[in-house]
Amino acid sequence: MSKLAVLHFPDPRLRKKAIPVKTIDMGIKQLSQDMLETMYAENGIGLAATQVNMQKRVIVMDLSVEKNSPMTLVNPEITEKVGSEEMEEGCLSVPGFFETVNRAEKISFQYLNLDGEKIEDSADGLLAVCIQHEIDHLDGKLFIDYLSSIKRQRIRKKFEKQEKVRAL
Ligand code: ZN
Repeated sequence: MSKLAVLHFPDPRLRKKAIPVKTIDMGIKQLSQDMLETMYAENGIGLAATQVNMQKRVIVMDLSVEKNSPMTLVNPEITEKVGSEEMEEGCLSVPGFFETVNRAEKISFQYLNLDGEKIEDSADGLLAVCIQHEIDHLDGKLFIDYLSSIKRQRIRKKFEKQEKVRAL
């Protein structure tokens, strides 16, 4: 396994749309392992391939406190959304920022597991929020896109300033 570099906002590569995985081969299994290692190392609960500059529809998550329940969803899709709920979200690509986002409260979803089996399931609470957040990444969307443009501008300025300091 090896740790991958996580792209940070406002990197334009975070806006690329990921393409569906055709075959779950060794490359996809390796990507899943590397993404999990990266997510654990960065103390995240979810990571999308887009965030490590791979335009493939793969997401990994682990919502357990013990960090022993890794999940890999290949070609995940939301098939139904019910209700709405507000939750504070953060993102490994927008480090240090936590903002309240409104999303569907309950979702039905489907995906392929690493054995290539099609799984249909439903989720609510944190898992529902996490899946919606990660699938957004695959479509080039970030949680801060749901905020007002003033707020988003403020975050962008802060990140650009940090980039400049690092470049000095
Ligand atoms: Zn994120």
